[in-house]
Amino acid sequence: MTEPADTLFLKIIRREIPADIVYEDDLAIAFKDINPQAPVHILVVPKKPIPCLADAIPEDHRILGHLLMTVKRVAEQVGLENGYRVVINTKTDGGQTVDHLHLHLLGGRALAWPPG
Ligand code: C5P
Repeated sequence: MTEPADTLFLKIIRREIPADIVYEDDLAIAFKDINPQAPVHILVVPKKPIPCLADAIPEDHRILGHLLMTVKRVAEQVGLENGYRVVINTKTDGGQTVDHLHLHLLGGRALAWPPG
């Protein structure tokens, strides 16, 4: 059986590389993006190394729901009362660069639409 790739985000979860962690529980971790695209830019990442949304299986539904609830919780925690955007870049055309599912939480300013 092939082991899942040891992703950058697994290294953050294991504290092998540093990150500014703002929330963590049994299923997920949230940390500040190293290259922020907005005043608030936080990544919410499942501890299970699902490579991307397209690879999620029906059994992952609890994790996927938990990730959205974690985004909501962290958004409240950091005071995004005016709103925010949640982005899941998926595979090449989606602009995904790290092959471990992650939700971008962006806020702190009015965001343009549509994205590029
Ligand atoms: O959606 P995408 O795969 O492009 O997002 C990966 C994100 O991971 C980028 O926004 C990048 O800045 C972030 N990153 C990080 N810490 C690292 C490496 C990448 O926050 N050590």
